[in-house]
Amino acid sequence: MKNGKFTQENHRNICVYCGSGKGKNQKYARAARTLGRTMAQSNFGLVYGGGGLGLMGEVARSVLGHGGYVTGIIPSFLSDREQMLRDVQDLIVTEDMHERKRAMFERSDAFVALPGGIGTLEELVEQLTWSQLGRHTKPIVVANIDGFWEPLLGLFEHMRQQAFIRSDLEVRFHVVSTAKEIVPAVNEALSHYVPSGDDAQVTARL
Ligand code: AMP
Repeated sequence: MKNGKFTQENHRNICVYCGSGKGKNQKYARAARTLGRTMAQSNFGLVYGGGGLGLMGEVARSVLGHGGYVTGIIPSFLSDREQMLRDVQDLIVTEDMHERKRAMFERSDAFVALPGGIGTLEELVEQLTWSQLGRHTKPIVVANIDGFWEPLLGLFEHMRQQAFIRSDLEVRFHVVSTAKEIVPAVNEALSHYVPSGDDAQVTARL
C-alpha cells in the first residue's frame, strides 16, 4: 500500500518493543529495518514507543520509508526529554506510562519483541503475564535475533522445570530467529486468532 492510502481503519497493527539503543551487534539494527520493511509491504502498521533513537528509530523510519503507517505513543515526560519521531502519521502523547501501555495494547493486534534492554523486557514480560492469566489472546512473537533472547528463553525453561510455569498456566508465545520470519509468524498466529471478547478492555480490569 502506498503512503497516504493507509488509514487508521484499513490495516492491522503490530506493536514492536525494542531497544532505545542500537546494541552492539549490527544484526539488530538490520533486523529492525527488515521488520519495518516487511510490515509496510504486508500492510501492517507499527505501534511503538514513539522514540527516534536506537532500534525504535530504525524500525519506525523503515516502516515510513516503505510507505507504511506509524503510530507513536509516548508519555509526556519522555516526549519532553527524548528525541521524539515527529513525522509519523499518528503521534499520541499520554499523561503517564499507564495510559501509554493501555493505548499501545488497545491499538495492537500482535506484539513483537526485538532485542532491547530493561524497557523492552518489561513490556514483553507484561504481555506474557497478561496472556498467561488469560486476559488476552493476541499473538506475541519473540524475535531471537542472533540468539539475543537465549538467556531469557533459558530462564523460562528453568521456570518450567521448577514448576513455576505450569501447563495450566502455559505462557503462549512464538519464537523466530530471523526478522524475515516475524510477519509470517504474526500472520499465521492471527489466522487462527479467536478474540477473547474482552481483549480491548484488558488493562481496565487487571
Ligand atoms: P529499553 O529496552 O530499555 O531501551 O527500552 C525500550 C522500550 O521502552 C521501548 O519499547 C519503549 O516503549 C520504551 N522506551 C524506553 N526508552 C524510551 C524513549 N526514550 N522513548 C520512548 N520509549 C522508550
